[in-house]
Amino acid sequence: MNAKNLELKTYITEEKLQEKVAEIGKALSEKFKNKKVTAVCVLKGSFMFYSDLIRHINTDITCEFFGVSSYDGKSSSGEVKVTLDLSTAIEGQHVILIEDIVDTGLTMNYLRKSIESRNPASLTTVSLLEKPEALKVPCKLDYVGFKIINEFVVGYGLDYNGYFRNLPYIAQVQNFQ
Ligand code: 5GP
Repeated sequence: MNAKNLELKTYITEEKLQEKVAEIGKALSEKFKNKKVTAVCVLKGSFMFYSDLIRHINTDITCEFFGVSSYDGKSSSGEVKVTLDLSTAIEGQHVILIEDIVDTGLTMNYLRKSIESRNPASLTTVSLLEKPEALKVPCKLDYVGFKIINEFVVGYGLDYNGYFRNLPYIAQVQNFQ
């Protein structure tokens, strides 16, 4: 399918996203005042949220990247594959795990277990979006940007078959075939 044939409807505007990113950044800056943190970006979907968010976190930060994949087209395979592991040890560090979206919760649960097994000083979880109706396993999130309907969304890092990650807003695809 050609990405250009799909019709998009704006679901969360760029302005609303940026307001929320600043709000979460402010809360994290207060929580981690005078502390060093390691911010973990979950690739690929959270790269845009992550890079905006860390610019609002006003403390010493090191950046790490964790690549996982569980989606095939627009449905979750239910199986989490690691495509890129963290490049340094995080033992004893305050870790902020930054996700794009929690759908079934399986990926976040996998990531939480994987990070906790490396003995960080603390783990704080953040997701820009959450679909409460789609949860299959309980999933504890410390910060959530927006709770959304149980529909497939794209943009602001989120893709459909690799496309639409570059949109500065979140959209719903109108005419899936
Ligand atoms: P979960 O394991 O919670 O089912 O899914 C998490 C991952 O699935 C997310 O990190 C994201 O990559 C992908 N995902 C879940 N829902 C959506 C969606 O509505 N749109 C897109 N583009 N990806 C989604």
